[in-house]
Amino acid sequence: GLAARLQETLKNIRGKGKVSEQDVKDMMREVRLALLEADVNFKVVKQFIANVKEKALGQEVMKSLTPGQQVIKVVNEELTALMGTEQSKIAVAKKSPTVVMMVGLQGAGKTTTTAKLASHLRKQHNRNPLLVACDVYRPAAIQQLQTLGKQVGMPVFSLGDKANPVDIVKQAMQHAEAEHHDYVLIDTAGRLHIDETLMTELADIKSIVQPDEILLVVDAMTGQDAVNVAEAFHEQLDVTGVVLTKLDGDTRGGAALSIKAVTNTPIKFAATGEKVDQFEPFHPDRMASRILGMGDVLSLIEKAQTHVDEEKARELEKKLRSMDFTFDDFLEQLDQVKSMGPLEDLLGMIPGMNKAKGLKNLKVDDQQLVRVEAIVRSMTPLEKQDPSVINGSRRRRIAKGSGTTIQDVNRLLKQFEDMKKMMKQMSGMQGGKGKKKKGF
Ligand code: GDP
Ligand code: MG
Repeated sequence: GLAARLQETLKNIRGKGKVSEQDVKDMMREVRLALLEADVNFKVVKQFIANVKEKALGQEVMKSLTPGQQVIKVVNEELTALMGTEQSKIAVAKKSPTVVMMVGLQGAGKTTTTAKLASHLRKQHNRNPLLVACDVYRPAAIQQLQTLGKQVGMPVFSLGDKANPVDIVKQAMQHAEAEHHDYVLIDTAGRLHIDETLMTELADIKSIVQPDEILLVVDAMTGQDAVNVAEAFHEQLDVTGVVLTKLDGDTRGGAALSIKAVTNTPIKFAATGEKVDQFEPFHPDRMASRILGMGDVLSLIEKAQTHVDEEKARELEKKLRSMDFTFDDFLEQLDQVKSMGPLEDLLGMIPGMNKAKGLKNLKVDDQQLVRVEAIVRSMTPLEKQDPSVINGSRRRRIAKGSGTTIQDVNRLLKQFEDMKKMMKQMSGMQGGKGKKKKGF
């Protein structure tokens, strides 16, 4: 898959101190193959590669990043740009109700998504949507929407399966106004393939309701086909947004990458499962990281770039290894970490961190951090430099001064010792391999 492949290529480049033009070329070849393999449209791939090459080569080398990291960053930025850079929001009509038409092939997930969207609008935006059952062809399609409507607690308008879709939407609009619904979500019929009859019906509905938004529901698992479908629907109906469904598990990212580029229609939502709450606004940057499959290593690079002074980090590393890491260093480190955001987020961003032995169940409580800091700040300079002097009465004094308990102080001292031991082991391990780790 794309993720694994890119990761393999990027792994080689990540450790390098310098990246030559040849490196970039090699890497871009791999990226190109990976994208094509993931069913990304070939024209999109070509443009993408050209953009990355140009940016990666033309860039000045930043102090805090290795050139390899810089190339990764450019790849990520371009992937994000391909999918639209910013999160695209659903339309809001000047005059209520906002009308949203859901269109797409049979089985893409229109009916499910209609209910999910209704629930999202209610929960996140405090809206009061009306669902409209317009699929009069597929057996039990109306019932399916009614069942889902019940599940999310939203009313469904239907005239049964003998009515004509155009009549249904006309009456639904009147009903919505009478009942003061601020959104009308129309679930339409689909076909297995695009055909004239379907398009004509959808165009008829469109001209009656004048929708503020036509959301094309696309099954991400269909890869390149999804792009063809999107193109065809867009040509006929002027789609205003895309919902990408079935992005659960290992679904390839190819569709997401091509759709925006080919149809110039933003992806607005993503569905990641059959359950009604498995639905969320689509974030291009998150999708790009997911496609790259590197945890959130890019955000980490970005944060590090702005917050950590590389020289200081190196000095610290040296101290950690030589064992004269003190509570003063610890405080300084704490300040740097704090400026980077919640600790747990940071740990989650480090690739492999979740899998690391002993760290699997690590939960970081930021409140805990506040206590730790208070304890350290209650120590005297001597105590910070040499914690071994901290006897019973000193512990009592520190606990009192920091508003914590002796148990808290004991725990921290023990953790500090454990940490130093662990650092010693880690530096031993690295020494054994005879390799100095670079970057992250
Ligand atoms: P429609 O024909 O376009 O209305 O599609 P449906 O809403 O009936 O969905 C078709 C099938 O896909 C159903 O079994 C849904 O439960 C399933 N489905 C819809 N969205 C998702 C999704 O995001 N992930 C997964 N795994 N299944 C989905
Ligand atoms: Mg349906």
